[in-house]
Amino acid sequence: MTTTQILCQAREESRRVLTEIEAKQILTEAGINCTTTRLASSREEAVSISEEIGYPVVLKVSSVDITHKSDSGGVKINLLDRISVEKAHDKIMASCSDYAPGAVIEGISVQPMARKGTEIIMGMTRDANFGPVIMFGLGGVFVEILKDVAFRIVPLEQRDAEEMISEIKGKKLLEGYRGQEPADVACLKQMLVKLSDFVHTTPGIEEIDMNPVIAYRNDAVVVDARIILSA
Ligand code: ADP
Ligand code: MG
Repeated sequence: MTTTQILCQAREESRRVLTEIEAKQILTEAGINCTTTRLASSREEAVSISEEIGYPVVLKVSSVDITHKSDSGGVKINLLDRISVEKAHDKIMASCSDYAPGAVIEGISVQPMARKGTEIIMGMTRDANFGPVIMFGLGGVFVEILKDVAFRIVPLEQRDAEEMISEIKGKKLLEGYRGQEPADVACLKQMLVKLSDFVHTTPGIEEIDMNPVIAYRNDAVVVDARIILSA
């Protein structure tokens, strides 16, 4: 489905939350590299999609009622074979119905397991005074505990993106440390500008969360995405 179709359908269903699959389709259309993510409606389909994609894969709950998927036991990573996929499918179903009894679960999403790299977060929120702003930070404790993030007002120029990346305190980590591979800063910059361009040209988006984006030496990929529409 195209961005317009996805947005229209959500509006028709009076939905403000897009699924990870919808969010990634939209971001992909905006030129942002996301893991290809497909919906399975049964255990068997989860297996057949996994075999098409190739192991290792990641399975996640797909439900507009569950926005924080791992909190509800809804994410199983690094699944290496058919048996693990079958087990993961059943475990996700069981723990999500325990955790969120009323939630409508439309299926289980399947995507390739991205290899280790530097975890980044990017997103968009609306500021009461400035309107849409783009956020950039390093993933995990850097954002959660240290609040080490940078903001810029939409639309971003290439230079704004550059400044955002260089002003975070943990920026050294992007250069690679203790044998960890460096992050492709040019690619991250481009991603920020593309995100800003998308927000700038698409009305009705309230919030975007790309968490995490995994960065490598010559590439970066969004492995989780959330989009909330304006009321
Ligand atoms: P949540 O809704 O809880 O944010 P995520 O989709 O972000 O769920 O998954 C939780 C964690 O699992 C991520 O922070 C990331 O570390 C890991 N993860 C998710 N998808 C992938 C993937 N395709 N490849 C590798 N790791 C992944
Ligand atoms: Mg996430």
